[in-house]
Amino acid sequence: MADNKLDIIPLYEWGMFTEPRPSVVAGPCSAETEEQVMETAKGLRDMGINVYRAGIWKPRTHPGCFEGIGPEGLKWLKRAKEEYGLKVATEVASEKHVVECLKYGVDLVWIGARTTANPFLVQEIADALKGTDIPVLVKNPVNADLDLWIGALERLNGAGIKKIGVIHRGFSTFDKIKYRNEPQWQVAIELRNRYPELPFFVDPSHMGGSKEYIREISQRSLDLGFEGLMIESHCNPSVALSDAKQQLTPDELSDLLYKQVVVKDKDSDSPEWKENIDQLRAKIDVIDENILYALASRMNVSRQIGEYKKSNNVAILQMSRWDKVFAKVIAKGNEYGLPDEFIKAIYSAVHETSVEIQNQVISDNS
Ligand code: PEP
Ligand code: MN
Repeated sequence: MADNKLDIIPLYEWGMFTEPRPSVVAGPCSAETEEQVMETAKGLRDMGINVYRAGIWKPRTHPGCFEGIGPEGLKWLKRAKEEYGLKVATEVASEKHVVECLKYGVDLVWIGARTTANPFLVQEIADALKGTDIPVLVKNPVNADLDLWIGALERLNGAGIKKIGVIHRGFSTFDKIKYRNEPQWQVAIELRNRYPELPFFVDPSHMGGSKEYIREISQRSLDLGFEGLMIESHCNPSVALSDAKQQLTPDELSDLLYKQVVVKDKDSDSPEWKENIDQLRAKIDVIDENILYALASRMNVSRQIGEYKKSNNVAILQMSRWDKVFAKVIAKGNEYGLPDEFIKAIYSAVHETSVEIQNQVISDNS
């Protein structure tokens, strides 16, 4: 199905974010106590944050964990808004949550990854928001399903919500990886290509799962040209009731934003060119990572085939099989507009290394 058009009000017209990049939403994973909400809010306001987040209802993996303070916390957010002039934001996952947020003057809501994956709930939220002009940020669904993500945006837009944006927080994976959630930047890039005007945030806290990765993910996000960051910050992370490992103090967040990440200078000699070339190169870097990962996976399978051939006493080189592989990849490559010679060169190298790996398998245990 072709993409539907989205009717989007640009980020800098929402009345809470201003250029230059990054636009930042920061605050604790969860509102825990009035003191914690107020102290963190003050720390963040003092270092230049305008939009303050705190989770009120928390979707936890296991029951029995801290599942959020509930509407009581909205009173604290309201206080932070009144005393510090912050805009306040929280996660909604149902009609009931939306109603409570509207009652307490929440300025922005986001839909969490687990909720975006559920069209019933997204529709319920969209219907509850009808007639308001509250901005909504939609996190990617937990699984890497771009259409499901876009579908959520369409549902909101269908209810008349035009201040919409997205938050990329990575995808769940069963594999052990260094981050809590796998970035799969190519999904974010594809979404940006389809909807260049869609305000785009990245959440390095939930993507990384640990404070040590927040800087590299934030830099990556800026290099890819995304406008915003959502970062968890707590006045005392070590005692946080949720996501303690990934939260920064307001001072650490200040260091990150003002001393560590490099925002490309838009006022340099040829600003547009530099901005564009950096973004294109960052995209190339992502694609190269994917190519290398695919090649490594392919060689792993070659190794398994070598072992299987060995145990069945079958010769390594079976030219008829390789002729078929060549014919297939050349035809496929042509479909993608790649010249024959290029594919032949790549696949000769792949073939050579594959045979080499299988040879090693044979000689290893003999
Ligand atoms: C959150 O932002 O606190 C949260 C629960 O995030 P996610 O939906 O990305 O897991
Ligand atoms: Mn969290």
